[in-house]
Amino acid sequence: MGRFFGTNGIREVVGETLTARFVADMTGAIADVLADSRPILVACDGRTSSPAFSRIAAGTLSLAGLEVQELGPMPTPCAQYSVPRLGVSCGVIITASHNPPEFNGIKGIAADGLEFTPETEAAVEKAYLEGRSRKVRFDKVGGIRPENAAIERYLNGIRGQVDAEKIRSRGFRVVVDCGNGASAVTAPVLLNQLGVRYVSLNGNMDGTFPGRPSEPTEPNLKDLVAAVTAHGADLGVAHDGDADRAVFVDDKGRFIPGERVLTLLAREEVQSAGGGIVVTPVTSSQSVEDIVTPFGGKVHYTRVGSPVVSRAMLGTKAVFGGEENGGYLFPKHQCARDGGMTLAKVLDLVARSGKSLSRLLDELPPYFLVKRKVACPVELRQRVLSEVPSLLDAGKDPATRVVTLDGVKVITPRGWVLVRPSGTEPIYRVFTEARDLKTAEDLAEQTLTKVQALIQRIQGGAA
Ligand code: MG
Repeated sequence: MGRFFGTNGIREVVGETLTARFVADMTGAIADVLADSRPILVACDGRTSSPAFSRIAAGTLSLAGLEVQELGPMPTPCAQYSVPRLGVSCGVIITASHNPPEFNGIKGIAADGLEFTPETEAAVEKAYLEGRSRKVRFDKVGGIRPENAAIERYLNGIRGQVDAEKIRSRGFRVVVDCGNGASAVTAPVLLNQLGVRYVSLNGNMDGTFPGRPSEPTEPNLKDLVAAVTAHGADLGVAHDGDADRAVFVDDKGRFIPGERVLTLLAREEVQSAGGGIVVTPVTSSQSVEDIVTPFGGKVHYTRVGSPVVSRAMLGTKAVFGGEENGGYLFPKHQCARDGGMTLAKVLDLVARSGKSLSRLLDELPPYFLVKRKVACPVELRQRVLSEVPSLLDAGKDPATRVVTLDGVKVITPRGWVLVRPSGTEPIYRVFTEARDLKTAEDLAEQTLTKVQALIQRIQGGAA
């Protein structure tokens, strides 16, 4: 990971690191590394500073001699969908996804529609640090033109991937919580087009996020749960700030953990493709592997981070990919996390099954994923990581496997344990999963105690 680019683009506090000059210099560096004779696309989310920063980005690119196609505020996957279809050299999206309102950021999309590779990000950071940016004479300045068809193109693309008539014929009632984010310009339109009656929560774009925090976690979705029950809806859906994620509430008013939807969608995509590869990070539920195997499916595990999942999907020609946080990727549409496509796919799946969402979920094999965290100073990270395998190694059981793709994962017949350092915070994350909640919680507590003791021992030794 670089100095500015994290696991998913640049995210900084507005007015601190993220200033007009920073955005101009970073956009200039992107142009220096990637621009050719093709235009560049600029889009943004609905944050308070997004119109200003996206105009600074567009102006910088124009003054670098490039033609700019300006898309305006919209979900990240919506802008991303246009990148390969407009034949631009790359896309610059001003967004901080689900971060708190004081943040904004820059996300780079390569010509193929996928996030910048780590190599590209490193080259951009180098160009930024060296102060490289193109400058042209007055007669070479590029034009800035609005590109107004991106939303329509994206929604047409989504509808082309589902049985829209079948969805319409079910007469669904849905509660949609845009969380005052960028999906406000797409989700209600999509539901209208699919003949779904809906109630909207937090449906106006507002970068102060007055309705709820932008991340669609269970504690943040109490209003959605209440509205689904009050309206007797077939389901509820919530998006994060840039709508690359979709999180669901079922018809019984239950918040659905992301790994359950991942499992449901994985089975559906593998079954309809007659087999194929599903790409998912090591943090994902064992239930994905268990459920796709009988349908000729295979799971390809990756490190955590949606850009890693996207690139692996392209490399393995996967039929589906996803993460436990509500980010799902449908490669026939695009190899990018897509909240709108996910909503349409879930409606399609429920419509074609003839069952309710709650029934479909209850039919899945039971698995319980527990997530905990423990504070760990960044400077001790590597030391701790090197000792975790011996800590967790059950050793005795031949069925035990150790996976060190990202952190350390130990898979035993009882369940699995994963300990990995966070990419963005001074903490270690502990994930455990088992077929019953008590075992999963016991595993989490035991592991947490062991890791805390290890950190204390290392700190004591270092002092
Ligand atoms: Mg997001």
